[in-house]
Amino acid sequence: CGIIGIIAKDKKEALASITVQCLERLEYRGYDSVGIASIKNNQIEIRKAKGKLEEVVKKLNILSMSGDTFLGHTRWATHGEPTDYNAHPHTDCTNSIAVIHNGTIRNFNELKEELISLGHTFKSETDTEIIPHLIEEFKKRGMKNFEAFQSAVKAIQGTYAILAIIKDEENKIYFAKKDNPLVIGIADKMNFISSDIPSFLPYTNKIIILIDGDIGYITNKEVYIENFGKPVKIEDRTKIITW
Ligand code: GLU
Repeated sequence: CGIIGIIAKDKKEALASITVQCLERLEYRGYDSVGIASIKNNQIEIRKAKGKLEEVVKKLNILSMSGDTFLGHTRWATHGEPTDYNAHPHTDCTNSIAVIHNGTIRNFNELKEELISLGHTFKSETDTEIIPHLIEEFKKRGMKNFEAFQSAVKAIQGTYAILAIIKDEENKIYFAKKDNPLVIGIADKMNFISSDIPSFLPYTNKIIILIDGDIGYITNKEVYIENFGKPVKIEDRTKIITW
């Protein structure tokens, strides 16, 4: 399984095709389903299905998707069969938040029951789907986006690399990491966040390797990381690699 998030700095980039190329380079990690999300004019669009990358890209005409912020996911099912509706990204009730995730959430049953009792409805059998609903719930209680994302991550127990987009912030991808790999790539025309370096290596070798406990966001202009509540100095973590 693999995850990729891309934000364009130069608005002319063909992000749908770059997202697909990045996922191709993560194919060695194995998967059963594929999904893509993008934001345009503060609306989230999602196309996802069971199957191989090449088939899904063709069937759902992924290359016709547009926007300056993209998420891409290849799923290795752990909770719920490999089906179209279990494929990531997953959303909240109003399609305002989209989340992709690698890993497993141990306490998802309790959290799902609680969310259902609060009126949330679910469309999949995955553990992942509770994340956008948790963010939605915390936002409903008055939290700002980053605080709601942090509270959602705090509520879950398990292993994760998570990427989330929220439709009122078109140029931002939130992330959190524990036990599953996640790395940021800084290129001239784009910022990347991915399960592995080779996915974006044709574009940049300037990277920030994330460590457990990291939570933050990338935008078209900046990278922000906290580790267990303490802001991280981005320059200290940034390196140029030779591959
Ligand atoms: N546990 C999640 C699911 O079954 C994520 C699996 C993955 O890492 O691809 O959908």
